[in-house]
Amino acid sequence: MKITFLGAAEEVTGSRYLVEHENINILVDCGLFQGPEIKQYQKDQFLLDAKKVDAIILTHAHIDHSGYIPFLVKNGFKGKIYCSQGTYDLCSILLVDSGLVQEEDAKESHGTAQPLYTKRDAEYSLRFFQVVNYQTPINIGKLKITLLPSGHIIGSSFVIISDGNNMVTFSGDLSGFNQFLMKSPTLLQQTDFLIIESTYGNKLHEKVDALKILAQIINATIAKSGTLIIPSFAVGRAQTILYCLSKLKEQKLIPDIPIFLDSPMAIRASNLLCHFPQELKITALECSNIMTTATYIRTAQESKALDKSDASKIIIAGSGMAEGGRVLHHLKHFIYDKKNTVLFVGFQVEGTLGYDLVHGAKQIKIKNNVYDVHAEVKNLDIFSAHADYQEILKWLESFQSKVKKVFVTHGQPEAAESLKHKIEERFGWSVVVAQYLQSFDLQ
Ligand SMILES: [Zn+2]
Repeated sequence: MKITFLGAAEEVTGSRYLVEHENINILVDCGLFQGPEIKQYQKDQFLLDAKKVDAIILTHAHIDHSGYIPFLVKNGFKGKIYCSQGTYDLCSILLVDSGLVQEEDAKESHGTAQPLYTKRDAEYSLRFFQVVNYQTPINIGKLKITLLPSGHIIGSSFVIISDGNNMVTFSGDLSGFNQFLMKSPTLLQQTDFLIIESTYGNKLHEKVDALKILAQIINATIAKSGTLIIPSFAVGRAQTILYCLSKLKEQKLIPDIPIFLDSPMAIRASNLLCHFPQELKITALECSNIMTTATYIRTAQESKALDKSDASKIIIAGSGMAEGGRVLHHLKHFIYDKKNTVLFVGFQVEGTLGYDLVHGAKQIKIKNNVYDVHAEVKNLDIFSAHADYQEILKWLESFQSKVKKVFVTHGQPEAAESLKHKIEERFGWSVVVAQYLQSFDLQ
């Protein structure tokens, strides 16, 4: 087998790994690059002929792992896209939304940019999906492929590919062991090669009581009669936040103020979550109870109406890095007043509005208008569905034999480099930080 790194090399988005074996070409993940230079990057940098890809295997549905699929299909990909049931269900929400976003972005450019793909392209690409059960190997050419639950989001999987001589394992996004909703990642015992993510390869999540801190932020905002805006990723994070808010209300640690989930995509993802109790720490019934914590805001009109009232409330809206979505018009409305709070709950990529805000921007620009920032801005990384380095090392401890080579991906250079040294030090394995377009023979 040979592997080539086509993305997520020294950065956290655009996960795409090409695995070649004899005449078979498989892509493991097919993600979009995100961030400021997104459009140029997409077109220039994907050096692969879509027609020559035989199959795609997905670790999970997040758009930086799946969002390039409709583009590949549009350009002649005719193979199958293998993934778990949860990943398929989430992709049917996320890819279609991504098509809409691409169309809107193109419209806003007044004809200077074409959409990478449309909603229709995204819907069409869903026909190529084929659901695979966990722990049930499939064959592509002479390769055997197995998916195991990885606990990052619904449907997320470790992808294990074997050619009979060597086994290569893709971690996808690796989660910690103490998540609120998702079960812990499957522990693996052996692999010859390992591709591992390093988003938090140089960081430790604070060992704090997340519920207590969240309660403090909410209560401080309510004491000022303010509104709390939570920009959140629709899939995974939004549901974790709902779980926490429901616990806080149940334990009477926060008053019974209105909570709004203002994201049609997050609403669909929340409803879907409860169909997969086998991947959760809670039952289907508990899950559906938690999801009633918030009032669902479906239409754009209802969403705008939320800004008309100054009564204390919590609004959860996308996108998670405030790069688009409904959270923008809430920010426009609430960010000028110091009684309000904006709480980010995930990793912020440099170049995004979220990154600027958590790094203390005093003014922000939304659609060419400038807004002064007076609201309090907080950043709580403790809800992250990514393992910190201690948890990554703990997961690696379950391997019973030496891993021949570890490739560190999906992390900024300092994070990837730091994780490399930690793995070398702890296990004595050979580790490389994968670079963009680098290839390796897996012998
Ligand atoms: Zn992810």
